[in-house]
Amino acid sequence: MVHTIRSAIFKTVRSLRANLTKIQKRIAAAAERAERDPGGITLVAVTKTHPASVIKAAIKAGITTFGENKVQEAEAKISEVGRDKAEWHLIGHLQKNKARKAAVLFDVIHSLDSPELAHRLERMCEEEGRETLSVLVQVDLAGEKTKSGIVETQLPLLVEVLKRCSRLRFDGLMVMPPLFEDPEETRPYFVRLRNIRDRLRDEGAFSGGAGHLSMGMSHDLEVAVEEGSTIVRVGTAIFGGRS
Ligand SMILES: *Cc1c(COP(=O)(O)O)cnc(C)c1O
Repeated sequence: MVHTIRSAIFKTVRSLRANLTKIQKRIAAAAERAERDPGGITLVAVTKTHPASVIKAAIKAGITTFGENKVQEAEAKISEVGRDKAEWHLIGHLQKNKARKAAVLFDVIHSLDSPELAHRLERMCEEEGRETLSVLVQVDLAGEKTKSGIVETQLPLLVEVLKRCSRLRFDGLMVMPPLFEDPEETRPYFVRLRNIRDRLRDEGAFSGGAGHLSMGMSHDLEVAVEEGSTIVRVGTAIFGGRS
């Protein structure tokens, strides 16, 4: 009960606005250190496990872009909040049998990780009349069996497949490094993802632009921004802990 009250207070519009301001300051400070324009960094507010009411409060607090990690959970919340009330990003693993729903529900999918899934999403876009769907390829740089993502050696094949997809826009890369207590330890992963992005950009692999880097979360966003992140995915630092 006490927990419920506390978390309710944590999620008032005012407290969300205060948390948002803190995050924006952290992003701006890191961008300044790296001599980057903070305007080039998009904040995705990660609302997994939090109810639709929290998303509504977050929209009132000025947040425009949300990240969810499960299609089913997102579907219920998006229908309650309104598909056109915000931009919706899928950041968690996507099973092939959920590709149709994902192609309808989300503006950006961060977790494309196989040629089969690319083919499936392309077909779902055709069938659902979706002209374009922005996708980021999740790269597995740690080789952790439990995590999704495509290993670097398989990446060229997926890139070739994406070149032949007319509805999927290949807009960048995403990484989810192993969890370290010291955020500095994530830096080599961010550097590696940037190097891969730079190479793909030079090859003209992206559908337009330089290719986004979706990297950095609550505890390591500074390191990610210093290393070139253009999309940070932040949950805990805005919405508090998840039970
Ligand atoms: C939960 C999640 C985040 C946010 O993590 P926090 O530590 O709460 O900021 C970011 N990216 C992915 C893929 C996630 O699943």
